[in-house]
Amino acid sequence: MAEKFAVGVDFGGTKILSGVVNLETGQLVGTGKKKTRAIQEHDDLVKRLISVVDESLIDAGMELKEVAGIGIGAAGQVNREKGVLIYAANIGVSDLPLSQPLTEYYKIPCVLGNDVEIATLGEMHFGAGRKCDNFVCIFVGTGIGSGIVQDGKLYRGATGTAGEIGHIVLDPYGRLCGCSSVGCLEAYASRTAIAKQIVGELTRGSESVISDKIDMQKGILRSKALSEAIEAGDEVVKTAVTQAAHFLGMGLATVMNFYNPQRIILGGGLVEACDYFFEQAVKQAKHRSLRVPAKKIEIVKAELGDYAGVIGAALMVKERLGIATR
Ligand SMILES: [Zn+2]
Repeated sequence: MAEKFAVGVDFGGTKILSGVVNLETGQLVGTGKKKTRAIQEHDDLVKRLISVVDESLIDAGMELKEVAGIGIGAAGQVNREKGVLIYAANIGVSDLPLSQPLTEYYKIPCVLGNDVEIATLGEMHFGAGRKCDNFVCIFVGTGIGSGIVQDGKLYRGATGTAGEIGHIVLDPYGRLCGCSSVGCLEAYASRTAIAKQIVGELTRGSESVISDKIDMQKGILRSKALSEAIEAGDEVVKTAVTQAAHFLGMGLATVMNFYNPQRIILGGGLVEACDYFFEQAVKQAKHRSLRVPAKKIEIVKAELGDYAGVIGAALMVKERLGIATR
């Protein structure tokens, strides 16, 4: 019985989502949600995680003994063996132990991974990655990350950092990236990059319907606002989104040429909200890549949306405990 369910937690910069997941069907039987408050004490964060986990168990009407374990995916760099969140810029913490305090509290296995790997696991089992053994999931948001699936298994690389597609360099003299290098893909194709470009245009006096929907200081805007501006025929937004999509397409072409996956799954708020961005990126990817991989590739949208991470985090428990996957 306990092997049939696990709790998944998606620990992001703005919110913490949790869910009790049926590992055989991917169905969520109970959920919880809390806001992530920036810069807080480690103890507070652990307590907050515990309250979100409890919320989902209560919502599911289940007891702890009925779940196999708890999987947490955090938006940052993680040490999987030690269960420590090493650095998470968006959450505002570093060196935060998570597996150990939660295992001590709940007395069941708790495992830690990053947000991209859990979302990829979710798509692999119950989303757009079903029945496909070699694919790459690419998520476009404030940054750009990817999960690589090889022969039906997540490929993590020699140091567990494989898939950092956002930092492939497209221009050695280009824009400064958050990683302190220059010319990285995410400095051109992320939602943050698009927002920066639009802020620049507006500052130079261009007019756009998006001007009252963008935080000019922080460069924050919602993906949906971009898509609505394009539908309204806004040239400033359309140009910024088109350029970003072309850069993303170059990144995708690189993946296609180098890894030759059967499928690329694109996810994240911008892809979900903006068909134009998705279509332009796909077109460019096929145009820029070599003919043979371009002919065979399937580029599709992710299917699980907001709860992909929660479902995948629960699946990570199954994967790490060695309960048969797929
Ligand atoms: Zn970078």
